[in-house]
Amino acid sequence: MNTEKKTDIAEYGEFGLIDHLSSKFENKHSTTIKGIGDDAAVIDAGDHYVLISSELLLEGIAFDLVYTPLQHLGYKAVTVAVSDIYAMNGTPTQLTLGIGISSRFAVEELDSLYEGIRLGCKHYGIDLVGGDTTSSVTGLSIAVTAVGRVDKDKICYRSGAKINDVICITGDLGGAYMGLRLLDREGRVLKNIADPKPSFEGYEYLLRRQLSPEVPMSLNQLLADAGVKPTSMIDLSDGLASDLLQVCRASGVGAKVFLDRLPIASETFKMAEELNTDPVIAVMNGGEDYEMMFTISLEDRDKVLGLGGIEQIGYIVAEDRGVNLTTPDGEMIAVTAPGFK
Ligand code: ADP
Ligand code: MG
Repeated sequence: MNTEKKTDIAEYGEFGLIDHLSSKFENKHSTTIKGIGDDAAVIDAGDHYVLISSELLLEGIAFDLVYTPLQHLGYKAVTVAVSDIYAMNGTPTQLTLGIGISSRFAVEELDSLYEGIRLGCKHYGIDLVGGDTTSSVTGLSIAVTAVGRVDKDKICYRSGAKINDVICITGDLGGAYMGLRLLDREGRVLKNIADPKPSFEGYEYLLRRQLSPEVPMSLNQLLADAGVKPTSMIDLSDGLASDLLQVCRASGVGAKVFLDRLPIASETFKMAEELNTDPVIAVMNGGEDYEMMFTISLEDRDKVLGLGGIEQIGYIVAEDRGVNLTTPDGEMIAVTAPGFK
């Protein structure tokens, strides 16, 4: 029997695990401009960069088919993949998509999934150019890879945030998580009822945020037209806490974020109240909002905030000041990364 002590994945956390697994790899090609560690890999293609990003969606982890319509799931799979391309200040161009399916699925159901994928590709203006299909005994799996491009002088990494830069967010946060909580609640309540009629009235916004999120795809062009290049950018897929820590870690800086500046929709507040929970937890740790967080130099602040739909949530400070959330009465709460999800 092998008595060697095995290490629990939880000891590393998601980011520690990726660091650990990738630490022995060295890039061999001068065309590999950025490998592991940003939203997308960056590859030199001569007069521009090619961007590549992969996402894996597993049934029971990323989605629950009890309350996720397959068409929405297809659309969402496209959104989560292209989100990382936009987060590099790029434009998505192509997509490949692998699926693992069991015989439990009828062709009509796969048609629904692919109708969602088709609509997603249409919305973001990209081509489905390949993939793979295999049988699965553990439910539905979707592996999606987005390819994109960006002009070399436009690229935005997570690592460019500088002290005194302004931290900006598009849209509002926490809605996707509250939508999930709502679906979960209705699913549980209605589990043993023959003809379930879930009550989502007044919360359609939260359902949309969870089931068919959309990337703020006009942001990059808006910023470019305003003559502003973000110093760093990341898409908000894992919750503000984790994504902010990623930017701070990559940039070697700290951050001061103000709790009363966090953009939260009224439906998110209302749902949180109903569920007796704190909407700030949904913002910090909920994830799946697919909004953008970016930093800009102080001198660009007025230009950017004047564009509308963008909020300043705080600013970048020196690394030794840490990453903190400041409450309205001045209390500072250290931002910490949640464990492996
Ligand atoms: P995002 O949330 O933007 O998708 P992640 O936090 O999932 O990014 O991943 C961070 C970085 O680690 C990315 O560069 C990604 O390509 C890379 N990565 C994630 N998982 C693996 C893996 N299993 N092997 C190699 N690289 C990985
Ligand atoms: Mg990302």
